[in-house]
Amino acid sequence: MNLLITNARVLDPSQELDATLDLLIEDGTVSKLDKKIKAPAGVAVIDASGLVATPGFIDLHTHLREPGQEHKETIATGTRAAVAGGYTAVCAMANTVPPNDERAVTEMVVAEAARNGWCRVYPIGAVSKGLKGEELAELADLRAAGCVAVSDDGKPVYNAQLMRRALEYCTMLGIPVVAHEEDANLVEGGVMHEGYYSTLLGMRGIPAASEETLVARDVILAKLTNAHVHIAHLSTEGAVDAVRRARKDGVKVTCEVTPHHIALGDDSVQSFSTNLKMNPPLRSEMHRQAIIEGIADGTIDAIATDHAPHHFDEKNVEFDLAPFGVIGLETAFAVCYDRLVLEKVIGLSRLIELLSCGPARIFNLPGGTLKKGSLGDVTLIDLEARHQVARDSHSKAANTPFLGETFVGRVVTTIVGGAIKYDLRTAPAAQAPKTQRKKK
Ligand SMILES: [Zn+2]
Repeated sequence: MNLLITNARVLDPSQELDATLDLLIEDGTVSKLDKKIKAPAGVAVIDASGLVATPGFIDLHTHLREPGQEHKETIATGTRAAVAGGYTAVCAMANTVPPNDERAVTEMVVAEAARNGWCRVYPIGAVSKGLKGEELAELADLRAAGCVAVSDDGKPVYNAQLMRRALEYCTMLGIPVVAHEEDANLVEGGVMHEGYYSTLLGMRGIPAASEETLVARDVILAKLTNAHVHIAHLSTEGAVDAVRRARKDGVKVTCEVTPHHIALGDDSVQSFSTNLKMNPPLRSEMHRQAIIEGIADGTIDAIATDHAPHHFDEKNVEFDLAPFGVIGLETAFAVCYDRLVLEKVIGLSRLIELLSCGPARIFNLPGGTLKKGSLGDVTLIDLEARHQVARDSHSKAANTPFLGETFVGRVVTTIVGGAIKYDLRTAPAAQAPKTQRKKK
């Protein structure tokens, strides 16, 4: 696909670039970046005056729910939400039904994404067969079929020996193991962060230690095996600290945080909204500040959404009974721009690094750069646009914790391989409100 983007403020941290330029994409890849580019015959032109052009966002942690839970989300609807949020690629978690623990499932995801996906989809395979934590999945087979990482996300790998073997195999395969860190014995039926507000509200708490004990173990195992472990959705002070120390020690550990853990604390659970129930839970202000510090000092490598759609009926129950998880693809940029850039924690360039270049580096994916010859994946952002989060998500689900909040800064166009996959100006409306939708 060919496309010329003119007059954009091109912001590309991978080449320390921040200048008003034209950008030409030919045959799906960036062919030229210059002050004034004359449109070759027959090439479509987008005037991006007043907009910022960045390498397309890459989400390391998306639950697309297909196969098996298409009432929550599908590859088509999830990737539609992704492009509406500026994502040109998402990594699809393995905890589908059946889980992505064998080649046939990976191939199904890849094929469906090619048919009906709006952006690139990189599957993540399971660590263990059936996500049971007992026996390793056929990791080499998963890798050969297209998996870019492995994870039993939703559950930790309890067996340290199995984790060690996974790390060793994945080193040979050149992919990371993504760790969901949570000791269920310590969680023991908890539904929110254990602290002042869980006591106040009389709800069972999930201690920070449930996460920190396993993070500590896995950086030790990464050191032992000299393998790459990537810690998913890190949420506590102790976890940030463990990663920081291990990194100094030369351990190959990377980590991600979610926009909701950046933006919200456990005090917000006082509303009892089930859209504030996720795993790991929203933590106390001390932990939230530790995450923000980790972002500022470079300990945290990426922002990942942990987009976890649920059907309206599933979330429309008491807090105790609701499933964990919130959606996040469409609001990630605005939330992080608001809480991190407008509040002067980091600059815009560092935010783009966390949303695009960092993720590409961690999973060794193409993209995350606008250098000549790289993928023509571009996100156009209007930093002045105000937008109120409504129930009009492109996702099948509407379980956002940011409903009704107004943000400044919005993705307006998403380009994948030179093709416009989302444009707010031509396709503003999403689906009808979801509250009345019937269960399939
Ligand atoms: Zn997880």
